[in-house]
Amino acid sequence: MSLSFSETPSNACPPEARRIGIIGGGQLGRMLALAGIPLGLEFVFLDPAQEACAATLGEQIIADYDDPEALQRLIQSTDIVTLEFENIPMPALHLTNAQTQLFPPPKALEVAQDRVNEKTLFAALEIPTPLWRAVDSLHDLEQAVAAIGLPAVLKTRRLGYDGKGQYVLRSQDDIQAAWDELGRTSLILEGFIQFDREVSLIAVRSRSGELAFYPLSENTHEAGILKLSLSRSNDPMQSEAEAYARRVLESLDYVGTLGFEFFVSPSGLIANEIAPRVHNTGHWTIEGAVCSQFENHLRAILGLPLGSTALRGASAMLNFIGDLPSRERALSVRDLYFHAYGKGARKGRKVGHATLVVGSEGERDVRLGELLALSTA
Ligand code: AMP
Repeated sequence: MSLSFSETPSNACPPEARRIGIIGGGQLGRMLALAGIPLGLEFVFLDPAQEACAATLGEQIIADYDDPEALQRLIQSTDIVTLEFENIPMPALHLTNAQTQLFPPPKALEVAQDRVNEKTLFAALEIPTPLWRAVDSLHDLEQAVAAIGLPAVLKTRRLGYDGKGQYVLRSQDDIQAAWDELGRTSLILEGFIQFDREVSLIAVRSRSGELAFYPLSENTHEAGILKLSLSRSNDPMQSEAEAYARRVLESLDYVGTLGFEFFVSPSGLIANEIAPRVHNTGHWTIEGAVCSQFENHLRAILGLPLGSTALRGASAMLNFIGDLPSRERALSVRDLYFHAYGKGARKGRKVGHATLVVGSEGERDVRLGELLALSTA
């Protein structure tokens, strides 16, 4: 693919724009609607699930993401279209972009849908990444291991999420097993980073080019799924992360909220991946920042002034995976905000989260155990 991107056609937004189409109707769509309804916005979701959890907050078109008739209905019934997950078929995005205002731009999805495109963009922008090689055969994998060394992580190029489609190779004996498990599709091998911490930056760029960055989140994953995010005031990695995110946002002529995940190594930040949408590691911004990542995404795509990303305290966000604690139990914790997504319990599924917001990081350290005790997974 070419990585020289052209400008989007227009910064003008219909002044009366109020109906937002969202491709996807999961919890991110739901939280976008919860942020937008107070601004007078209305929402239409396109999602094939019979009971998409965002649907109680607007209308739902129940159809596949690339159903042309359904896309026409979405486009016709809204002023502007956005999305809440990245694995939307590219033809659907091009069709939508040709007929209405679609943000973020399709080229951002083209990059984020394929780990090789993503790494190629990072290299072009001089953003450090793990060593990597594209892998399409067992021979490629052997060559890649020889070039990169072990341990290394084999990942599917496309459609991986929450650690799915990944295999950590620790010895030469793992090569065949990793290939047997993942080798039916295009892959990438990455050097394994012995990171000190994982952090992410939630970044926003509006139609006018205005930029906003939240304080970094420090994240802990379990079995590849995000478990805990802590807001970080004055993190030493903040300015480096912002510099890298600015390069990505500007080179893609990006509009909306973007999540950027990094490993923190002794030599500085190493980019892991971008998500061209609101991001799980930014959920704490709902109560822990002046303006949330969700409201800022809507402001950005509507061409409105961006809201302040300043902290309201120190936040800790815990994901509920598989099952929720009872409402009564969660709400017995002081300073805690409870979010149930209206989804049925299922192993490995994100069904809700809770955010603790307190006055200082010191106080958060003391009280973190109360939040973690709610954990269901
Ligand atoms: P990803 O789906 O690429 O975000 O990977 C999920 C998680 O796996 C990351 O948040 C890391 O904890 C871990 N991981 C992924 N890639 C690497 C790598 N190259 N080195 C070390 N850990 C990794």
